Amino acid sequence: MEKMIKTENIRKVFRTEDVETWALNGVDIEVAKGEFVAIMGPSGCGKSTLMNILGLLDSPTEGSYCLNGTDVALFGEDERTALRKGVIGFVFQSFNLIDDLNVYENIELPLLYMGVPKKERKKRVEEAMERMDIAHRAGHFPQQLSGGQQQRVAIARAVVTNPKIIFADEPTGNLDSRKGIEVMELLKQLNGEGTTVVMVTHSLRDASYAGRVINMFDGQVATEIHQ
Ligand code: ADP
Repeated sequence: MEKMIKTENIRKVFRTEDVETWALNGVDIEVAKGEFVAIMGPSGCGKSTLMNILGLLDSPTEGSYCLNGTDVALFGEDERTALRKGVIGFVFQSFNLIDDLNVYENIELPLLYMGVPKKERKKRVEEAMERMDIAHRAGHFPQQLSGGQQQRVAIARAVVTNPKIIFADEPTGNLDSRKGIEVMELLKQLNGEGTTVVMVTHSLRDASYAGRVINMFDGQVATEIHQ
């Protein structure tokens, strides 16, 4: 199976003036292309730190990380940014939409950053809105939408670049049960079409959508369950 993610002995320390916190203490994980993996574990065990490293928002202190077959340590900041924009889609618990931009403009933003021409942008934004059933809200601003609609906009923004992998951090954390299920069904659908999904969650219901659950404890992988 081709690997989308492979980490070897990743460690991460956060240092303040007099305190040293080892957030990750040797993490080895592999995620195959097309897998749907859930990462679980108690608060403070290192889930967010790991996701930030996997999503190229942060770097490990020690250890190696290959994304899509390339050792990311070989990349400069520009290449990392390009990879982040082109290969990775992010979905966050807090939606992270821009209040001053309407639905259309929020979804268009990553394409603008990538320099996609206007006509192509329009086509892709409209497709993404259609898929996420949010086209009727194109001109609305985030604060005019329900939580479920905001998360659908965020997912549209994540998929508009056709990412190979989606990192979702507690994607249903701010949603009621019905809206949460809708979001999970969307992630499952994208996964069914070949997108690799790595998701942090506290929810057993959400984890049940994944093919594999990685349980972390104290900065390490404690157990892995194939389901
Ligand atoms: P989780 O997402 O599982 O709740 P985190 O990855 O957020 O865990 O945190 C792991 C550990 O690293 C915790 O002890 C946390 O306090 C510490 N930590 C995380 N980020 C920072 C930071 N920027 N500075 C200092 N300590 C941090």
